Amino acid sequence: MPETTTVAAAPVARLIDEFHKLPGIGPKSAQRLAYHVLRASIDEARALAEAILDVKDRITFCSVCQNITDIDPCSICNSPNRDAGQICVVEEPLDILALERTRVFKGRYHVLHGVLSPLNGVNQEDLKIRELIARLGDGEVKEVIMAINPNAEGDVTTMYLEGLIKPLGIRVTRLARGLPVGADLEFADEVTLTRALENRQTLN
Ligand SMILES: [Zn+2]
Repeated sequence: MPETTTVAAAPVARLIDEFHKLPGIGPKSAQRLAYHVLRASIDEARALAEAILDVKDRITFCSVCQNITDIDPCSICNSPNRDAGQICVVEEPLDILALERTRVFKGRYHVLHGVLSPLNGVNQEDLKIRELIARLGDGEVKEVIMAINPNAEGDVTTMYLEGLIKPLGIRVTRLARGLPVGADLEFADEVTLTRALENRQTLN
């Protein structure tokens, strides 16, 4: 807990604590954000609070691809312009934003919401794997592209899914190794991601 939390007025201390819980926000940043809110107008403060609540009230997960959405199915799953024959599997919703920026991929997505990590207690049933396999049963999907971050846990997850999908007679590919090892898809630039998509390799 930041030191000033104990001397700040209770509501300010509470706000600092809440900001401090956010990813990437240390004690100093939490204080700065709290004092920013303190100085903001009541309208600005209300807009921030409402935006946070709105995201919890209105955003849900697409029942098909598990992406975050305010309509179900989401706009990508709903679109007649997207190729239902290709599904690109990603870890997190933010990865879809990165891939969409390339404008290269015209298929659909599936969000796992994590990768297998037994050491951290993340097992098959914690990911949206059952939902993925359920989408592959109708013969429409011809290729599953594994776009999972290239690190140890990502690779284990890719291999595990490959073992489930290949017996269904569906081609499984993964992004080319143009991505730096250990890189986050989310932060990859468009040129690198486009190249990784275009040069994707069949897993065998
Ligand atoms: Zn969807």
